[in-house]
Amino acid sequence: MRFAEIYSSKKPVFSFEFFPPKEVAALPSTLELIRELALLTPDFMTVTYGAGGGTRDLTDKIVRFIHQELTIPVVQHLTCAGHSRAQIDEIVSGLLRQGVTNILSLRGDPPKGSERFEAHPEGFSSARDLTQHLRENFSVSIAVAGYPEGHREAKSREEEFQYLKEKVDAGADVIITQLFFDPEVYFQFVEQARRSGITVPIVPGVMPISNVSQLERFTGLCGASIPSNIRSALEPLREQPNEVIKFGIDHAVAQCQSLLAGGAPGIHLYTLNRSVQTKPIIQAIRG
Ligand code: FAD
Repeated sequence: MRFAEIYSSKKPVFSFEFFPPKEVAALPSTLELIRELALLTPDFMTVTYGAGGGTRDLTDKIVRFIHQELTIPVVQHLTCAGHSRAQIDEIVSGLLRQGVTNILSLRGDPPKGSERFEAHPEGFSSARDLTQHLRENFSVSIAVAGYPEGHREAKSREEEFQYLKEKVDAGADVIITQLFFDPEVYFQFVEQARRSGITVPIVPGVMPISNVSQLERFTGLCGASIPSNIRSALEPLREQPNEVIKFGIDHAVAQCQSLLAGGAPGIHLYTLNRSVQTKPIIQAIRG
């Protein structure tokens, strides 16, 4: 099923993101977790891809498992980092041969320790260029990333929306956002995107808070802010992991309810490959 069809429904669309394990030996337990979360009947699942192809084999195995065994629509994340056009074409042709037609088209981060992204000499230097190539050469349905609080490489807000419009016009069917914690940030992002002429669905990415240090690390990496009310609520819970988990569930449920009530077309849940929060969150928001 393609994005246009998935998001044509009036009902909220729920999607889950998974990432490949670091070790091949952990693959069976990752697949078991995905099988368990499939019982929540998400509309689609996505699988991340290590920039430069580091997870290519494991991402491929998980994508196949979701597509062939669970028969749930699956989206493969694909980064252009480190790949030539020929390698990208080989990966996409392989996906199409399996019947996988949905791709999250990404650039990928600069290599560790470097501020600047270096394109492969025969590859693509941005998600916009990758998206255009995919649209022109393959019969695929394409999602791209959006950044409600801005990408750290953005020079200005205006330029960022102009670029996002170019990226969508290059062939994207939907935008999936980076994590954020304040629904107002999403509503303002959508408003500005619409003013910039972007009409595709904009799906909020929601990450349940599960660990204070991890939250600080993730937000530091992706440039999302931690609202002061969340910081002060979490500070006394720092050494109480179960309480943080509970707080994360309650916050994510409230955030999702507010997003859906405000018109979000669905929720893309960053599951962090965990069921302990994914299950109660989805059950609570579905009612
Ligand atoms: P691009 O859209 O190409 O550019 C990123 C930003 O750079 C733009 O938002 C804009 O501010 C600026 N920019 C770039 N080109 C221009 C231009 N010509 N003019 C003006 N501004 C410009 N990373 C992985 O490695 N693997 C994954 O699986 C993965 N999954 C992700 C899923 C989601 C939903 C999101 C939000 C991010 C994901 N990432 C993943 C992270 C992503 O690779 C990084 O955020 C990366 O730094 C940017 O990728 P992009 O596709 O947004 O890049």
